[in-house]
Amino acid sequence: MTDAAVRVAYLTAGVLFILSLSGLSHQRTARRGNLLGVLGMLIALGATALDSGFSGHWVLAGAIIPAVVIGVLLARRVAMTAMPQLVAILHSFVGLAAVFVGLATYLAHASDTPRTAEVTVHLVEVYLGVCIGSLTFTGSVIAFLKLQGLLSGRPLLLPGRHILNILMGLGLGAGLGWFLGAPAHLALWPLLLATAVSGILGVHLVWSIGGADMPVVVSMLNSYSGWAAAAAGFMLDNDLLIITGALVGSSGAILSYIMCKGMNRSFLSVIFGGFGGESAGPPAGAQPAGEVRSVDVSQAVALLDDARSVVIVPGYGMAVARAQHALAEAVRLLTERGTKVRFAIHPVAGRLPGHMNVLLAEASVPYGIVLEMSEINEDFPETDLVLVIGANDIVNPAAQDDPSSPIAGMPVLEVWKAKTVIVMKRGMATGYAGVDNPLFYRENTRMLFGDAKKNVDAMLGGLRGGG
Ligand code: NDP
Repeated sequence: MTDAAVRVAYLTAGVLFILSLSGLSHQRTARRGNLLGVLGMLIALGATALDSGFSGHWVLAGAIIPAVVIGVLLARRVAMTAMPQLVAILHSFVGLAAVFVGLATYLAHASDTPRTAEVTVHLVEVYLGVCIGSLTFTGSVIAFLKLQGLLSGRPLLLPGRHILNILMGLGLGAGLGWFLGAPAHLALWPLLLATAVSGILGVHLVWSIGGADMPVVVSMLNSYSGWAAAAAGFMLDNDLLIITGALVGSSGAILSYIMCKGMNRSFLSVIFGGFGGESAGPPAGAQPAGEVRSVDVSQAVALLDDARSVVIVPGYGMAVARAQHALAEAVRLLTERGTKVRFAIHPVAGRLPGHMNVLLAEASVPYGIVLEMSEINEDFPETDLVLVIGANDIVNPAAQDDPSSPIAGMPVLEVWKAKTVIVMKRGMATGYAGVDNPLFYRENTRMLFGDAKKNVDAMLGGLRGGG
């Protein structure tokens, strides 16, 4: 393939990636968006392999074939609930790749070339690429360990941590000057040092972020991995990698903004705040006092039978229990009987942006009854019954009532304003943010304890008249 043909193929792939992103913005078109992305990637790989100036076919095959096998196995096996960890670890690979590309590019070309302005620009690209890549790599590994539960969600709050970050940032700036000014045979040292310092900065930044801010961290690392890929594109002079990296980087940044808005947090306070720290684990003996009123399945079915309008709030527990299919069937039954049933989706419900929407779409719940928080929050006072299924932090009134709460100010679904609320969970445990929930003790709240799937199955039986 000639150089011009390769460029046209890359441009086509870039357009397909943009169409893919636009398709992924809605469930209705998500499948098509995914296919367009796959097609774009096939074209990109094909054009790279067929490029007449390319000779490393064995290396390419050696990289792609095991990667495809591992990718297919992972995609088939990973549980929906483990998706955030998978995304985090995949981001770390992008960061690591950018580090390797940077070091290899420097060793192959930049080390012995005379320092023209063009070479200096290239060296800056290498330096930035290596720094962003290293930060993304270590930050993503820490995010993975936290999400997998191998590392506590509690933030690491070192004394003088802001000063430490600033010093490392200044050190990286000074390192760039050293790198550009050093003679070629010595400049590898500042580059390696910058890789190490950026790596430590990545560990420190993500470790000091509390449990409740993890949604923003996941999307932020998504964005970083895009910028790391774009930097690699500059280093390799590869237009497609620049386009793809910029698309991932900017879409990740937009997602981070949406997540911050969903939690009423500013981006800077997430990165430097250590928010959620005070209560990232359940505070010993700090259960809010009050009476818990529990119901059994038949009482819950009776409440459902009587309700004219029902709002269902799914959360992480629904994903763990895989209750969505039985739930979709229950919704179908209720709707057939004339009950108005809708779903209320909080922007950070579950463990991944869009987590609940994906699960409900998988269970063929009609899109029209799945509403965002802003679309449904005002309707709770007119709602007869709210079913909270495996959700906790996103329905916690303390976010509004208790200024000392670690989640104070986070917008929540105001379910307590409905006539009756049924909360379905296994016990009285806290949610991801580790914050107690006064909703469970409200007078109009009924707790239905047990696994969400088992209970929804039993309720379905009851609704059919068999339970
Ligand atoms: P939470 O983590 O607040 O609560 C989930 C609840 O589900 C738990 O309290 C648990 O209680 C219950 N549960 C667990 N398993 C089951 C089961 N099998 N059956 C029934 N209930 C079950 O989830 P939310 O969705 O309300 O909130 C999301 C939280 O995750 C927020 O704090 C958000 O910041 C954070 N987060 C979100 C991300 C995102 O991108 N969406 C990413 C990372 C973190 P019990 O053990 O008593 O059953």
